[in-house]
Amino acid sequence: MDSRELMELANTWGAHNYKPLPVVIDHADGVFMWDAEGKRYLDFLSCYSALSHGHRHPKIIAAAIGQMGMVTLTSRAFHNAEMGPMLKELCEYTGTEMALPMNTGAEAVETAIKAVRKWAYLKKGVPKYEAEIIACSGNFHGRTVTVVTFSTEDLYREDFGPFTPGFKVIPYGDVAALEAAITPRTAAFLVEPIQGEAGVILPPDGYLRAVREVTRRHDVLMIADEIQTGFARTGRRFACDHEGVKPDLMTLGKGLGGGVYPVSAVVGTREVLGLFRPGEHGSTFGGNPLACAVARAALRVLEEERLDERSATLGAFLLDRLRAVRSKHVKEVRGRGLFVGVELHREAGGARRFCEALMQRGMLCKETHDDVIRLAPPLTITEQHLTWAVEQFAEVVAAL
Ligand SMILES: *Cc1c(COP(=O)(O)O)cnc(C)c1O
Repeated sequence: MDSRELMELANTWGAHNYKPLPVVIDHADGVFMWDAEGKRYLDFLSCYSALSHGHRHPKIIAAAIGQMGMVTLTSRAFHNAEMGPMLKELCEYTGTEMALPMNTGAEAVETAIKAVRKWAYLKKGVPKYEAEIIACSGNFHGRTVTVVTFSTEDLYREDFGPFTPGFKVIPYGDVAALEAAITPRTAAFLVEPIQGEAGVILPPDGYLRAVREVTRRHDVLMIADEIQTGFARTGRRFACDHEGVKPDLMTLGKGLGGGVYPVSAVVGTREVLGLFRPGEHGSTFGGNPLACAVARAALRVLEEERLDERSATLGAFLLDRLRAVRSKHVKEVRGRGLFVGVELHREAGGARRFCEALMQRGMLCKETHDDVIRLAPPLTITEQHLTWAVEQFAEVVAAL
């Protein structure tokens, strides 16, 4: 079947909850993908950081195949030989005391919400069912009903209520607003260290450190959602590392699966995650041996290939080159590591047409909201490919 027929099938038989670029990926390797007609594209999205290791990294694929020859699923009714080592290695990598494995990012966020509520009732002494969680405007934490409850994006909420009580929303990057919103019933503050979906929004310098100080002073837990920013995307292992901040909990996903398999987790302190008792929370697939084998390989590759340092160096290079592109369309180029947003002026007519033009030239990225192009290639990319990509970008902004 050709691309046109394949897209028609998806359109006819699939719910229209996405509006993809008109390209059908047939296979991929490293930083490249090929469509059904054999045209090659440079991946500049990395599945929103889930492909930070590149496509089909040989060591991760080998781990998956090796595990498929052993055992793939056990349920948590029994132990398996991969989960314990994976949780230990994940805690070592993240510098935390305990981990709880799930599958998707949204599930990790839901898990963190349950954990901090439990902590509020058992440890902080908040009256039962009065716990509050504070989140930020412009946030993205997933798509479940509870999580879209505190989204500030109308499109994500419209027609999906009634919602879950117990959430407050404050402006992002504003520590004074956080302190003002805290009450004796506040369990936690949930925050993205850089807001990815909102358009790669960096908070003011010192924000995360100030958040850590305020939350600690008021006995409020800090949850950093590092699902998109974690695992070397921003040039450090985690985006919180740039300010030397240790949250009580981190939600992790995307890159943890090495581009192969959905793996997520909540990591953090024993004081919080140690509160779960058998039966209170779980997941059929969470912690399965295939997921754990893949995640272990993904963590090893991050270290062996120093992907954090690569992201820092190459990210600085990319930002530099992009900022040197002079264009009437570009309002701002911002980012950290290989996590970059190019914001266009309103008059540019939307980021979508720029992404489509880049696609024609063999470079795949995606707009986020109307006016931002998110550039987030696999961390295994080379300077030479980045140079090529910036050339394509420069020609597209000059032509449109
Ligand atoms: C992608 C993302 C999620 C949700 O992850 P899913 O695997 O799509 O459920 C949550 N938080 C952040 C910051 C994300 O980028």
